Amino acid sequence: MRSAAQAGRPFAAMRMAALIVAVMFFGGCAHLNPAGRTVAMTFDDLPMTNPERDAQPLAIAAETNRQILAALERYRAPATGFVNEIHITSIGPGADQLLTGWNQGEYELANHGATHADANVLDLPAIEREIIQGETTIGPLVRNAGRSLRFFRFPYNHLGETAEKQTGAMALLKARGYQLAASTIDTSDYVFDKAFVRALDARDSDMQSRIKRAYLDHTAKQIAYYAGLNLQVLGYEPPAIMLLHINRLNAETLDAQLALFRKAGYRFVSLAEAQADPAYAQAPRLPTRFGPMWCYRWARDRGIRVDGRLEEEPPAWVADYGAAISVESPAPIPRR
Ligand SMILES: [Zn+2]
Repeated sequence: MRSAAQAGRPFAAMRMAALIVAVMFFGGCAHLNPAGRTVAMTFDDLPMTNPERDAQPLAIAAETNRQILAALERYRAPATGFVNEIHITSIGPGADQLLTGWNQGEYELANHGATHADANVLDLPAIEREIIQGETTIGPLVRNAGRSLRFFRFPYNHLGETAEKQTGAMALLKARGYQLAASTIDTSDYVFDKAFVRALDARDSDMQSRIKRAYLDHTAKQIAYYAGLNLQVLGYEPPAIMLLHINRLNAETLDAQLALFRKAGYRFVSLAEAQADPAYAQAPRLPTRFGPMWCYRWARDRGIRVDGRLEEEPPAWVADYGAAISVESPAPIPRR
């Protein structure tokens, strides 16, 4: 723990420099989008990411959902929650009630597949089973609320690694009335959360604070980075879609994240409103075995070269500290 803390010090200056760049970027670019920036908040792996690592999964999941919905409420930010049936089963009785708050008002339940399986290793019939069995709990919940399931997001954002499979997967979604959920901002929140959970278990409050600060610094940089790349590729900033996981780190930092968006001139919209923008009218065309954010997909489909190496990774000390936890992260695959 001590050595990890010391190893982190040289990164402080770098983080500060990058934060200054991010702030300059926000200031310099806001005028390029006269209608104002918008962002939709989305959360994956409901009712709780990796519930099996918690000693009291139901209590921790309940508190996490409560904190996240309360922060969204404070900022009047609509949000979409992507559910895995397997996480409901592993939390056990009472888990479905954690979804109630996500099924009313400006909040919406969506499908993230039954078992969080990777579409790259499934054939089309298995992908179809993931979609259909993913509706086991949430299907009746949304119908009883007079709603329908509108969005599906593939685990790891893997849409199928070949053109044939991707086309087939898109047809399966369409046949069941789904739109493919896009995402444009990735903060590697799962990397920071693994470290944060270790610091919580160790009751190391200094480390918890350091991780939260590092995460918010990284988030500010990523918001600016992706806004710049979207502008470069599309010539304008489409509504952004923030990809987060439902975890303890986001529960404790969501207010601060929403404040970062507000400070950068963003207004909060629903996923449906965001994806009404023409940028999302076409599903990605060229297949990839990775799960990149949409700017990289838009760039490939348009033959525009972008340098993904300019995107910063989370600080090494955070990843190293979190790596001591053996539970598999929700998205261990390279992003681009
Ligand atoms: Zn996921």
